[in-house]
Amino acid sequence: MTTRFHPGLGEAAQGFLSRQHQLLIGGRMVESDSGRRTDILDPATGDVIATAAEASASDVDRAVEAARRAFEGPWSKTTPSERTRMMLRFATLIEANADELAELECINSGKPLVFCRNGDVVGIAEMLRYMAGWTTKMGGQTPDVSLPGEWHAYTLREPVGVVGQIIPWNFPLNMAMWKIAPALATGCTVVLKPSEQTPLTALRLGELALEAGIPPGVLNIVTGFGDPVGAAIAAHPGVDKVAFTGSGVTGRRIVQAASGNLKRVSLELGGKSPVIVFPDANLEAAAAGVCSSIFFHAGQICAAGSRLYVHERAYDQVLDAIARRANSIKLGHGMESGTEMGPVISRRQLERVTGYIRRGQEEGATLFAGGGPVGERGFFVRPTVLTDVKPGMAVHDEEIFGPVLCAMSFNDNDLDRISTTANDTTYGLAASVWTSNVGVAHKMARRLQAGIVNVNALSSPDAALPYGGYKQSGWGRERGYDAIEMYTEVKAVAINLNV
Ligand code: ADP
Repeated sequence: MTTRFHPGLGEAAQGFLSRQHQLLIGGRMVESDSGRRTDILDPATGDVIATAAEASASDVDRAVEAARRAFEGPWSKTTPSERTRMMLRFATLIEANADELAELECINSGKPLVFCRNGDVVGIAEMLRYMAGWTTKMGGQTPDVSLPGEWHAYTLREPVGVVGQIIPWNFPLNMAMWKIAPALATGCTVVLKPSEQTPLTALRLGELALEAGIPPGVLNIVTGFGDPVGAAIAAHPGVDKVAFTGSGVTGRRIVQAASGNLKRVSLELGGKSPVIVFPDANLEAAAAGVCSSIFFHAGQICAAGSRLYVHERAYDQVLDAIARRANSIKLGHGMESGTEMGPVISRRQLERVTGYIRRGQEEGATLFAGGGPVGERGFFVRPTVLTDVKPGMAVHDEEIFGPVLCAMSFNDNDLDRISTTANDTTYGLAASVWTSNVGVAHKMARRLQAGIVNVNALSSPDAALPYGGYKQSGWGRERGYDAIEMYTEVKAVAINLNV
């Protein structure tokens, strides 16, 4: 195999890429049963940068057994404060290896290095520290009961058990940590399956977890394809909960597979999030926010603001500002300084996104900015703005997961009607409102059917804020205390004191 690395990569990242990557099971790196390997690409060049082990269902069996042993063995005997200390050490090790992790994330996901370093790596250390705080604080309650006689009743919050976690390719580090951190905090053990396209940083996290003293078998990492690896995790009778982030189609498959043992299921399935700009908003800030929301990481964000509604009075000004910004975004390799937007993840994704742009135009939308692929190498798509978009068009109704903004205007002051239009989607992940009227902001926040509403902001990536969707955007919430609840069972204990 010939691998080609970007020359800007540091020694640590190059050393990691050159390794023969295996599966992490029971605290050891082991070969997959099949011995097969998958090429891992740099999406900015299409070059192979590493290969990863391709697991099969029997490897999942081994990982689930290791996770069960760790759950019933050393991990369940740790005190909450011991788990906190291990998680804090894990966070410190992440920071100590920040450059390597950021470079690996950049080279494999395509996201500019500066975002990987200052956003993703910083964010996952924060997530660990936030969840490590809950470990010593989450306990049960002592409700007063009204049963006849005298009773002492209380609740216990217990770990749900062995958790299967299946994550996508857009934010490999963040998606892994959003799932690993609450599992560790609550005393669960994990079988994590990263995307077959971006397994590298998860493997490195697994090593750092061991170095931090987290016992073998608590965090197992099985690389490979959705079918068979993800499917085996979702169906496995030894897995107590499955947490998934990805497409709705795969989410539905996971729900079906999970029904065998009725394992707990949480799903984060993307969106078609509205951005509503009122004429009293700071319009320059709104235009900048809209662009960041849809063009950051080439639109490969579940919560991307992909449907824009601007009041008629502000429409021309906002759209011109957006087009100016879209046309000036610097595309390039994430390792090059000055790069503002990288590629999409794969040729398949490039074709999917450009297919939507074509279909949008065929269905009557106007190409206002961008459009189509760029360059000979890698998987780059121009930041694109479509106007004259209407409900019923594929670009309006479906998640594109690329840098494609669908812009529409409204001429209405009735917040009920505006929110009805914004809510006209099967999704309900995020929404963003731009206004200087605090009453409008709060009223819209109540009317919008979305798990996250940002006002005068494009996103709010804080570990304390729950993240998840209404409607077909998923089940459950990650981040915040809600994530702790998702990884625990509540047990009611009632003691009759008169016997
Ligand atoms: P995409 O098609 O964009 O890769 P998916 O939702 O299919 O999005 O992928 C998200 C994650 O789900 C990946 O880790 C993928 O391997 C996994 N996956 C795909 N198919 C299945 C499946 N049938 N069961 C479980 N996991 C799957």
